[in-house]
Amino acid sequence: MDADTKEQYVCQVCGYNMVGYLPDNCPFCGASKQKFYSCDENSARRRVNSSRVNDRVTRLNSVPELGYEHAAYRVEAEKNVFMIDCPSTYDQSVPQIDTIFFTHHHFLGASNLYRSLYPARVVIHKDDSNHDMCRGFPFDTLFSGSFTENDLSAVHLGGHTPGFTCYFFGDVLFICDYVIKEHGKWSINPYGPENETRSGLKKLLSLLIERPVKTVCGVDYVMSFPSWNAKVRPLIE
Ligand SMILES: [Zn+2]
Ligand SMILES: [Zn+2]
Repeated sequence: MDADTKEQYVCQVCGYNMVGYLPDNCPFCGASKQKFYSCDENSARRRVNSSRVNDRVTRLNSVPELGYEHAAYRVEAEKNVFMIDCPSTYDQSVPQIDTIFFTHHHFLGASNLYRSLYPARVVIHKDDSNHDMCRGFPFDTLFSGSFTENDLSAVHLGGHTPGFTCYFFGDVLFICDYVIKEHGKWSINPYGPENETRSGLKKLLSLLIERPVKTVCGVDYVMSFPSWNAKVRPLIE
Protein backbone atom coordinates (compact mmCIF):
# COMPACT_ATOMS: atom_id res chain seq x y z
CA MET A 1 0.00 0.00 0.00
CA ASP A 2 0.96 3.61 -0.52
CA ALA A 3 3.45 4.62 2.21
CA ASP A 4 1.56 7.87 2.67
CA THR A 5 -1.49 6.08 4.07
CA LYS A 6 0.39 4.34 6.93
CA GLU A 7 -0.33 6.83 9.68
CA GLN A 8 -3.83 7.81 8.76
CA TYR A 9 -7.09 6.88 10.44
CA VAL A 10 -10.68 7.47 9.39
CA CYS A 11 -13.45 8.00 11.95
CA GLN A 12 -16.40 5.79 10.99
CA VAL A 13 -18.84 8.02 12.88
CA CYS A 14 -18.10 11.26 11.03
CA GLY A 15 -15.58 10.45 8.26
CA TYR A 16 -12.84 12.76 9.56
CA ASN A 17 -9.29 11.71 8.60
CA MET A 18 -6.58 11.89 11.27
CA VAL A 19 -3.29 12.40 9.47
CA GLY A 20 -0.08 11.21 11.16
CA TYR A 21 -1.47 10.64 14.67
CA LEU A 22 -3.84 8.36 16.58
CA PRO A 23 -5.84 10.25 19.23
CA ASP A 24 -8.10 8.62 21.85
CA ASN A 25 -11.08 10.52 20.48
CA CYS A 26 -11.97 11.95 17.10
CA PRO A 27 -11.16 15.68 17.05
CA PHE A 28 -14.26 16.33 14.91
CA CYS A 29 -17.06 14.31 16.55
CA GLY A 30 -15.49 12.97 19.77
CA ALA A 31 -16.00 9.26 18.92
CA SER A 32 -13.55 6.91 20.67
CA LYS A 33 -10.68 5.30 18.74
CA GLN A 34 -12.50 1.94 18.66
CA LYS A 35 -14.57 3.63 15.94
CA PHE A 36 -11.56 4.33 13.71
CA TYR A 37 -10.35 2.32 10.73
CA SER A 38 -6.90 2.73 9.33
CA CYS A 39 -7.06 4.56 6.03
CA ASP A 40 -6.08 1.35 4.19
CA GLU A 41 -8.85 -0.59 5.93
CA ASN A 42 -11.37 2.11 5.04
CA SER A 43 -10.18 2.11 1.41
CA ALA A 44 -10.52 -1.70 1.30
CA ARG A 45 -14.16 -1.49 2.42
CA ARG A 46 -15.32 1.51 0.39
CA ARG A 47 -14.99 3.16 -2.97
CA VAL A 48 -15.79 6.62 -4.29
CA ASN A 49 -18.84 6.61 -6.54
CA SER A 50 -19.32 9.24 -9.28
CA SER A 51 -22.74 10.40 -10.41
CA ARG A 52 -23.25 12.93 -13.16
CA VAL A 53 -24.67 16.40 -12.38
CA ASN A 54 -24.19 17.87 -15.88
CA ASP A 55 -21.74 17.39 -18.76
CA ARG A 56 -18.87 18.98 -16.77
CA VAL A 57 -19.73 18.20 -13.15
CA THR A 58 -19.91 14.89 -11.27
CA ARG A 59 -20.80 14.26 -7.67
CA LEU A 60 -18.45 12.07 -5.59
CA ASN A 61 -19.57 10.06 -2.57
CA SER A 62 -18.16 7.25 -0.45
CA VAL A 63 -19.98 3.94 -0.98
CA PRO A 64 -21.09 2.45 1.36
CA GLU A 65 -21.82 5.75 3.08
CA LEU A 66 -19.16 6.96 5.51
CA GLY A 67 -20.00 8.88 8.69
CA TYR A 68 -21.65 12.25 8.11
CA GLU A 69 -21.40 11.46 4.42
CA HIS A 70 -20.73 14.61 2.41
CA ALA A 71 -20.58 15.07 -1.33
CA ALA A 72 -17.52 16.41 -3.13
CA TYR A 73 -17.73 17.51 -6.77
CA ARG A 74 -15.37 16.97 -9.71
CA VAL A 75 -15.43 19.67 -12.36
CA GLU A 76 -13.93 19.41 -15.83
CA ALA A 77 -13.11 22.96 -16.83
CA GLU A 78 -11.62 24.00 -20.18
CA LYS A 79 -8.01 24.03 -18.97
CA ASN A 80 -7.95 21.83 -15.90
CA VAL A 81 -9.92 19.55 -13.63
CA PHE A 82 -10.76 20.44 -10.09
CA MET A 83 -12.58 19.14 -7.09
CA ILE A 84 -14.74 21.17 -4.72
CA ASP A 85 -14.17 19.67 -1.26
CA CYS A 86 -12.84 16.12 -0.99
CA PRO A 87 -14.16 12.61 -0.26
CA SER A 88 -13.22 11.10 3.11
CA THR A 89 -12.49 7.79 1.40
CA TYR A 90 -9.20 7.50 -0.45
CA ASP A 91 -9.89 5.71 -3.75
CA GLN A 92 -7.04 5.73 -6.24
CA SER A 93 -9.43 5.08 -9.13
CA VAL A 94 -10.89 8.62 -8.92
CA PRO A 95 -9.63 10.17 -12.18
CA GLN A 96 -7.05 12.97 -12.33
CA ILE A 97 -7.66 16.22 -10.41
CA ASP A 98 -5.38 19.25 -10.81
CA THR A 99 -6.70 21.44 -8.00
CA ILE A 100 -8.78 20.86 -4.87
CA PHE A 101 -10.73 23.95 -3.75
CA PHE A 102 -12.27 23.91 -0.29
CA THR A 103 -15.47 25.62 0.76
CA HIS A 104 -14.25 25.45 4.39
CA HIS A 105 -12.25 23.29 6.78
CA HIS A 106 -14.97 20.77 7.75
CA PHE A 107 -14.66 18.34 4.84
CA LEU A 108 -10.94 18.08 4.15
CA GLY A 109 -11.50 14.34 3.56
CA ALA A 110 -8.42 12.46 2.38
CA SER A 111 -7.17 15.51 0.46
CA ASN A 112 -3.57 15.02 1.65
CA LEU A 113 -3.51 11.62 -0.13
CA TYR A 114 -5.20 12.80 -3.33
CA ARG A 115 -2.76 15.72 -3.34
CA SER A 116 0.20 13.29 -3.45
CA LEU A 117 -1.49 10.87 -5.84
CA TYR A 118 -2.17 13.18 -8.81
CA PRO A 119 -0.41 15.46 -7.62
CA ALA A 120 -2.96 18.19 -6.96
CA ARG A 121 -2.72 21.72 -5.63
CA VAL A 122 -4.87 22.32 -2.53
CA VAL A 123 -6.54 25.70 -2.08
CA ILE A 124 -8.37 27.10 0.96
CA HIS A 125 -9.22 30.51 2.42
CA LYS A 126 -6.44 31.61 4.77
CA ASP A 127 -8.89 32.12 7.66
CA ASP A 128 -9.83 28.43 7.48
CA SER A 129 -6.28 27.15 7.08
CA ASN A 130 -4.97 27.06 10.66
CA HIS A 131 -7.87 25.52 12.59
CA ASP A 132 -7.28 22.36 14.72
CA MET A 133 -9.22 20.42 12.06
CA CYS A 134 -6.40 21.18 9.59
CA ARG A 135 -3.75 19.21 11.52
CA GLY A 136 -1.69 17.14 9.07
CA PHE A 137 -3.35 18.60 5.95
CA PRO A 138 -1.02 20.43 3.57
CA PHE A 139 -2.38 23.44 1.66
CA ASP A 140 -0.60 24.96 -1.33
CA THR A 141 -2.50 28.19 -1.92
CA LEU A 142 -4.17 30.35 0.71
CA PHE A 143 -6.47 33.07 -0.56
CA SER A 144 -8.40 35.90 1.01
CA GLY A 145 -11.48 37.54 -0.46
CA SER A 146 -13.06 36.37 -3.70
CA PHE A 147 -11.38 35.41 -6.99
CA THR A 148 -11.89 33.79 -10.38
CA GLU A 149 -9.59 31.10 -11.76
CA ASN A 150 -10.10 28.95 -14.89
CA ASP A 151 -13.86 29.63 -15.12
CA LEU A 152 -14.33 28.98 -11.41
CA SER A 153 -15.56 31.94 -9.34
CA ALA A 154 -14.98 31.88 -5.61
CA VAL A 155 -17.08 34.13 -3.39
CA HIS A 156 -16.04 34.51 0.23
CA LEU A 157 -19.08 34.48 2.55
CA GLY A 158 -17.62 33.87 6.05
CA GLY A 159 -20.13 33.08 8.80
CA HIS A 160 -20.36 29.30 9.36
CA THR A 161 -16.53 29.30 9.32
CA PRO A 162 -14.45 32.49 8.98
CA GLY A 163 -13.14 31.50 5.55
CA PHE A 164 -16.31 29.92 4.17
CA THR A 165 -16.33 30.32 0.38
CA CYS A 166 -18.91 29.25 -2.18
CA TYR A 167 -18.04 28.56 -5.82
CA PHE A 168 -19.69 29.08 -9.17
CA PHE A 169 -18.88 27.15 -12.32
CA GLY A 170 -21.08 28.06 -15.29
CA ASP A 171 -24.64 27.83 -14.02
CA VAL A 172 -23.78 25.62 -11.03
CA LEU A 173 -23.44 26.86 -7.45
CA PHE A 174 -21.44 24.86 -4.86
CA ILE A 175 -22.63 25.78 -1.37
CA CYS A 176 -21.71 22.74 0.81
CA ASP A 177 -23.39 22.97 4.25
CA TYR A 178 -24.10 26.72 4.47
CA VAL A 179 -27.77 25.79 4.64
CA ILE A 180 -28.77 22.33 5.79
CA LYS A 181 -31.82 20.09 5.76
CA GLU A 182 -32.42 18.09 8.93
CA HIS A 183 -35.55 16.01 9.48
CA GLY A 184 -37.09 17.63 6.43
CA LYS A 185 -36.59 21.17 7.77
CA TRP A 186 -34.24 23.68 6.13
CA SER A 187 -32.12 26.00 8.22
CA ILE A 188 -29.09 28.24 8.11
CA ASN A 189 -26.17 26.16 9.44
CA PRO A 190 -26.46 26.66 13.23
CA TYR A 191 -22.75 25.94 13.91
CA GLY A 192 -20.72 29.13 14.08
CA PRO A 193 -21.95 32.75 14.34
CA GLU A 194 -25.49 32.41 13.02
CA ASN A 195 -26.03 36.12 12.37
CA GLU A 196 -22.91 36.29 10.22
CA THR A 197 -24.01 33.20 8.32
CA ARG A 198 -27.39 34.85 7.77
CA SER A 199 -25.62 37.97 6.38
CA GLY A 200 -23.51 35.74 4.14
CA LEU A 201 -26.63 34.03 2.84
CA LYS A 202 -28.23 37.42 2.14
CA LYS A 203 -25.13 38.45 0.20
CA LEU A 204 -25.24 35.22 -1.80
CA LEU A 205 -28.94 35.50 -2.60
CA SER A 206 -28.48 39.08 -3.81
CA LEU A 207 -25.61 37.94 -6.09
CA LEU A 208 -27.90 35.30 -7.54
CA ILE A 209 -30.16 37.98 -8.98
CA GLU A 210 -27.40 38.93 -11.43
CA ARG A 211 -25.86 35.50 -11.80
CA PRO A 212 -28.36 32.97 -13.05
CA VAL A 213 -27.85 29.50 -11.60
CA LYS A 214 -29.62 26.33 -12.75
CA THR A 215 -28.25 23.79 -10.28
CA VAL A 216 -27.21 23.93 -6.63
CA CYS A 217 -24.72 21.35 -5.33
CA GLY A 218 -24.82 21.00 -1.54
CA VAL A 219 -23.33 18.86 1.19
CA ASP A 220 -25.81 16.01 0.62
CA TYR A 221 -28.03 17.10 -2.26
CA VAL A 222 -28.14 18.33 -5.84
CA MET A 223 -31.19 20.49 -6.58
CA SER A 224 -32.59 22.66 -9.32
CA PHE A 225 -32.16 26.32 -8.46
CA PRO A 226 -35.90 27.13 -8.30
CA SER A 227 -36.62 24.38 -5.76
CA TRP A 228 -33.54 25.29 -3.67
CA ASN A 229 -34.43 28.98 -3.79
CA ALA A 230 -37.98 28.24 -2.62
CA LYS A 231 -36.59 26.49 0.49
CA VAL A 232 -33.75 28.89 1.25
CA ARG A 233 -35.05 32.38 0.48
CA PRO A 234 -37.63 32.26 3.35
CA LEU A 235 -34.73 31.70 5.80
CA ILE A 236 -33.61 35.32 5.47
CA GLU A 237 -37.08 36.86 5.37
ZN1 LIG B 1 -15.46 11.55 14.07
ZN1 LIG C 1 -19.42 22.94 7.83
